[in-house]
Amino acid sequence: MSARRLRGLGAAAALALALTACGGGDDAATEVVTDAKFPAGSSMAKFNEAGTIKIGTKFDQPGIGAKKPGADAPEGFDPEMAKIVAAKLGIEPDKIKWVETVSDNREPFLQNGTVDLVFASYSITDERRQVVGQAGPYYVTGQQLLVAKDDDSIKGPDDLEGKKVCSVEGSTSIKTVEEEYGANPAPFATYSECVQQLLSGSVDAVTTDGAILLGYTAENPDKLKVVGDAFSEERYGIGFKKDDTKLCNFLNETLEASFEDGSWQEAFDQTLGEAGVEAPEAPTVDPCE
Ligand code: GLU
Repeated sequence: MSARRLRGLGAAAALALALTACGGGDDAATEVVTDAKFPAGSSMAKFNEAGTIKIGTKFDQPGIGAKKPGADAPEGFDPEMAKIVAAKLGIEPDKIKWVETVSDNREPFLQNGTVDLVFASYSITDERRQVVGQAGPYYVTGQQLLVAKDDDSIKGPDDLEGKKVCSVEGSTSIKTVEEEYGANPAPFATYSECVQQLLSGSVDAVTTDGAILLGYTAENPDKLKVVGDAFSEERYGIGFKKDDTKLCNFLNETLEASFEDGSWQEAFDQTLGEAGVEAPEAPTVDPCE
């Protein structure tokens, strides 16, 4: 569309058009590839032929992955990245089967085939790579603390000794505060439950990746604040079934292409960027084994 034609549209119509172009996933970078060819017998060929894929993601982490009541699909940076991968496999966004994963069931869900891929604030770790594959990273963040807005007693992880700190079972976050900072952990299944605990005053702090905590703060800016610098490095990867090297290479190539063609940046800007998270640098992916 020409600039003149755009100027000719009313401001509201132009804005609506711009929003559709951003949010609809119909821009060139995330266009669904209709003539994709993959090696016979590969997982990519299998997903492509099936025309669908099961994606495990978070349903309760605003900005990262959150599903509104009654919505068909979750929204957030992770679902956007999953749509970029699905598009390269020739799968339309509305053909993706979204499955809720919480931190503790990501490995078993990949191992038993409940999901094909995991995009769920899923840090790459050596321990996890013993049991599942993890491609990427596609984002790097770090663990921080969420406290009540009027609390001045906790300013960083060194103030956590003996404090009741809520985090999630099976996460790197709970391990770090317990093992390295002597906190008294309150384990829950999800971070949204932790936020409820903090709002009701039954815990002193919530801890996990800063990007996740900022999403909750944006929902409750009068009651919550994120404090202190990041005290870990969390490199988000795409989970897949262990030992599928062809799939790993495909996922890494797709991520690298998304860093190059602007679709990764766009996915970030529309989601975490909106929640006030600082724009990241494109990371370097790890080689596949
Ligand atoms: N990124 C960390 C992890 O994978 C914390 C966030 C989460 O639990 O999803 O354990």
